[in-house]
Formats: sequence, structure tokens, C-alpha cells
Amino acid sequence: MENVSLTRYSEITEKNKREIVLLRGSGCKWRRCSFCDYHLDFSPDEDSNYALNQEVLRHVTGKYKRLEVINSGSFVDLDARTLRLIMDICMQKAITEIHFECHWMHRNDVPQLRSTFAAHGIHANIKIGVETFDTIYRETILHKGIDESSPEKIAAGFDEVCLLFGLEGQTAASMRHDIETGLVNFRRVCVNIMVENTTKIKPCPAVIEVFMNTLYPLYRDNERIDILLENTDFGVG
Ligand code: SF4
Repeated sequence: MENVSLTRYSEITEKNKREIVLLRGSGCKWRRCSFCDYHLDFSPDEDSNYALNQEVLRHVTGKYKRLEVINSGSFVDLDARTLRLIMDICMQKAITEIHFECHWMHRNDVPQLRSTFAAHGIHANIKIGVETFDTIYRETILHKGIDESSPEKIAAGFDEVCLLFGLEGQTAASMRHDIETGLVNFRRVCVNIMVENTTKIKPCPAVIEVFMNTLYPLYRDNERIDILLENTDFGVG
């Protein structure tokens, strides 16, 4: 059995209470986002991934009836046994809502996942990392790999969106526009603040200060917005 750091299991106890697990899959198939090094958390060894995931999922209690699964990529990168185990745990623990992450490139796999869980009475929410609705910035600087500019079209198959703030060039107006666009098109918005990692994209302290002084107070209490000040989303697809 793999040794599991408890950081792979956590609870969100403020808004949208839920348990959250960081599982390991075969790895993000995009891997090109310039700000991300989370995709390094993967293994091609399915048995080893399943053993690790089994151990992490053992911590789930079902106390909030809601579970978020993240895996530094997309749900399609998880092995079939892990997906089956997630389903079994949801049923055993009476979890009625599950959250998965998914990169744009796998959007056509979403309906099947939704219907598989729905067949067992579990509602699947799918989160996409868009980071910003400024297409040029997103695709030329962040290399996000979303070949669609329309927020409505991007949102069509998804429920929740992740945004990434604290980057050079962002302003109060641009970040506010991203949040408002997210709120119009998605059920929930998750704001991540960039933190230093091994990539060349660095957090911009001046932009973070602008966010904290102008937008954080405005949106902090909005029930549809999660604000993760330490970018703990592990690189949502
Ligand atoms: S942010 Fe998500 S999609 Fe982009 S490289 Fe990282 S894990 Fe892959």
C-alpha cells in the first residue's frame, strides 16, 4: 500500500461544504499550460495509482453528501477501477453530488460520465479551468488549449469554472470581467491566486494586491464563488 500524505484528503468547510480528494491518474493529456506544474503528479502504473487512490478514498466519510475529486488533469485520466470505487463510495456514504475536473479537449466525454453517475442518483458537476475569458491572453501566454472564444460555448458542457488571478497584465477591470462572465455562464466560479511554482510564470504581487483590495471584499461572501488564496486547485483541467 502506498504511503499517503493527508494533503490528498481535505475538507472545504466554508461555502459549498465538501470533502475533496487529490487522486492520481495517468496524467494530464494537455500538459502545456504555461503556469502549471501540477500535471507532474501522475503515474503510468495503473495498479499503483489505484492503490494510492484506494487509500485516499478510504478517508471519505460522506459527512457533507458532496465530494470533489481532483487529479491534476481530467477525470478521463483516472483508471476504471478508481472510477468504480468512487461510485461505490458515493453510494455507500449517500453522497449525492460529485465534482470532477475536465480539460476542454475531453468535453465530449462529459455526457457519458454524467449519465453513469446519474443512473445511481448522483449528480456530477464538471469543472473546467478557463483561467481568463481574454482569449488572446489565455491562448498566447497561458497556452490553455481552448480553441473557442465564446464563454457561452465554453460553458455549454460544464458547470463550474476556474479562473487564475495574480498574473502580470491583469487589472481590476479584467479580473472583474472574468468573474462576472463566469457568474453569468456557470453555476459556480472558483478563483485561484497564482503562487510561485517551478514554471516561468510568476505571481505578480501588484496584481494580487489590486485583487485583494478591490475585488476580494466585493466577492468574498458570494455563495457562488470560491476564492482559493493559495491556488490549491492542483491545476484544474
Ligand atoms: S492546468 Fe490542467 S490542463 Fe493545464 S497542464 Fe495543468 S493539469 Fe493540464
